[in-house]
Amino acid sequence: MELKLFNTMGRQLSTFNPIHEGKVGMYACGPTVYNFAHIGNLRTYVFEDIFRKTLEYCGYSVRHVMNVTDVGHLTGDTDEGEDKIVKSSREMGKTVWEVAEFYTKAFFRDFGLLRCAMPSVVCKATDHIPEMIDLIRRIEAKGFTYSAGGNLYFDISRFPDYGKLALLDQQDLRAGARVEVDQGKRNPFDFALWFTKSKFEHQAMLWDSPWGRGYPGWHIECSAMSMKYLGEHFDVHCGGIDHVPVHHTNEIAQSESATGHTWVNYWLHGEFLLMGRDKMAKSAGNFLTLSSLVEKGYHPLDFRYFCLGAHYRTQLMFTFEGLDAARTSRLGLMERIVQLRAEAPQGPVQAAGKALEYLRDFETHAADDLNMPRCLADMWTLLRDAEVPSGMKLSVVLRMDRIFDLGLDSAKEESLTLDDESKALLEERRQARRAGNYKRADEIRAALKARGIEIQDSPQGQKVRFAAGQRGEKTVTSEDDRC
Ligand SMILES: [Zn+2]
Repeated sequence: MELKLFNTMGRQLSTFNPIHEGKVGMYACGPTVYNFAHIGNLRTYVFEDIFRKTLEYCGYSVRHVMNVTDVGHLTGDTDEGEDKIVKSSREMGKTVWEVAEFYTKAFFRDFGLLRCAMPSVVCKATDHIPEMIDLIRRIEAKGFTYSAGGNLYFDISRFPDYGKLALLDQQDLRAGARVEVDQGKRNPFDFALWFTKSKFEHQAMLWDSPWGRGYPGWHIECSAMSMKYLGEHFDVHCGGIDHVPVHHTNEIAQSESATGHTWVNYWLHGEFLLMGRDKMAKSAGNFLTLSSLVEKGYHPLDFRYFCLGAHYRTQLMFTFEGLDAARTSRLGLMERIVQLRAEAPQGPVQAAGKALEYLRDFETHAADDLNMPRCLADMWTLLRDAEVPSGMKLSVVLRMDRIFDLGLDSAKEESLTLDDESKALLEERRQARRAGNYKRADEIRAALKARGIEIQDSPQGQKVRFAAGQRGEKTVTSEDDRC
């Protein structure tokens, strides 16, 4: 399988060749832990997980490093505003450390619910201040910095390649086209490597440094930690597309000015999830969290399936109709797996003939810059092909699921059904009906309907049906709902 990836650096599709045979070093920018991740953020992590699992499918051993930003990320990415975590700590009445711990846990809970594989290394910014200071010293020793107003800045005029990732216009850069917010900067595109307390009086996290007691700029952590865990030249750096013009541009400037050579070979960026016309953003207030979807009765993997339905480099519009369609398809898929198991009690059978052709198509599409919509289509075409024996279908689909990772190998009847809260409501309704309390039973029916779940009473018990948007409906009967 020859893997082709779209490299943001140079804007072209190119064949992936790792630095060390059989091994891939991959760095992904992690969360800033001042609030819950929204599903737009989570789309990026799902894309990175699909990428990692595609690399593993191709036989690479992947060292995946992710940072957790718990200091230094200001409300604006370009050094304006105040530290996001300090702001949350004031609003929540908790210490910055408590805020960071709380939201780090919340993030990895969502991460796990989406079946994203834990990175090989998760590194916190506040645990790597000495590494950041060392790197800043190297940048300083090479003459790329200046200090002003108590802060140490990176001087972009000393780094001729500045902006090559984002294709920033050199003339704009020289003219300093961005709005000036920091009087100390010589050029608005210059950025802070180290802030001293002169910037904010109420900064709670402070460290001693050669430039005074203070804290690091946001970008330096990714340069310092990626080099620590992956070396000074590694294969892939991923993140959301919004990181291209500032964060990743500045990471490259820092890293390559310190080492004097190329830092990263491939840059992959995931596109936005849109809410209406706008990108989902906490600052715009138009965001949804994974738990808010779960509260509405969706399974976290409905969202994963929803993400698979669009290529990672296309913008994806979030709608509940779209999520309903993803849920219907996912439940239908799980149902098919259970059926295939019943039809092929001997289990998966080695694929041959047509089944193998479907698998090859799938691999071609996965290797074509992770074309998951085509891969899903390949899987459904296989499932609909009456000529392929069930055992072979099962083996091919489970193999495909090494990349999709929808948990198909553990598909059971129960998992086709409901979240715990809906299950509890269903059980309460069963008992209410048994006790002749039809008023309560009707109330619960209405409550479940509001969650997109319809109930039909049948001689076998309560039948549950998911309202499923425009693409039809799926009927599921759970084992434990018989009267
Ligand atoms: Zn980063």
